[in-house]
Amino acid sequence: MISTQLLKELNLQVKYEYYSAHLYLAMAAYCYSIDLDGFANFFKVQSEEERFHAMKFFNYINEMDCTIDIQALDTPPSDYVNALDVFERSLEHEKFVTSRIYLLMDIATQEKEYATISFLKWFIDEQVEEEASFKAIIQKLKRANGDVSILYALDRELSLRVFTPPVI
Ligand code: MG
Repeated sequence: MISTQLLKELNLQVKYEYYSAHLYLAMAAYCYSIDLDGFANFFKVQSEEERFHAMKFFNYINEMDCTIDIQALDTPPSDYVNALDVFERSLEHEKFVTSRIYLLMDIATQEKEYATISFLKWFIDEQVEEEASFKAIIQKLKRANGDVSILYALDRELSLRVFTPPVI
């Protein structure tokens, strides 16, 4: 049985996952504006993944016979300084999302809501991967230390990322 509080937080998570998609599209737009099309591709694919996350919550709420509540999204920032700034801010955002998943898990655990605990486990693992992937790129950008040839090599690498819906 999903409590009112848990349902409220699950619905908020639909919003946060869609906001993530929105934020990463804004980051893709910034990357296009500085001619880093590979970086832009990376964020477009990331945005697709976030929509998939939102729909996982959407479908779960429905499966549990609860009412889905679609909410307005905030305007994401667009004041980025460079590629490193974009990735550092995306890591910050992922840490916030991880804290949200932990909050949901805390409530589900307190309420012994075993179905939701099981559902949330996928997201716990997913957040570890998300944070690791952003951290790895931040490390590369820091090591590049403004070297344009390394930046363009990384841009080519990121241009290869494609969206594959995760197998569950
Ligand atoms: Mg997500």
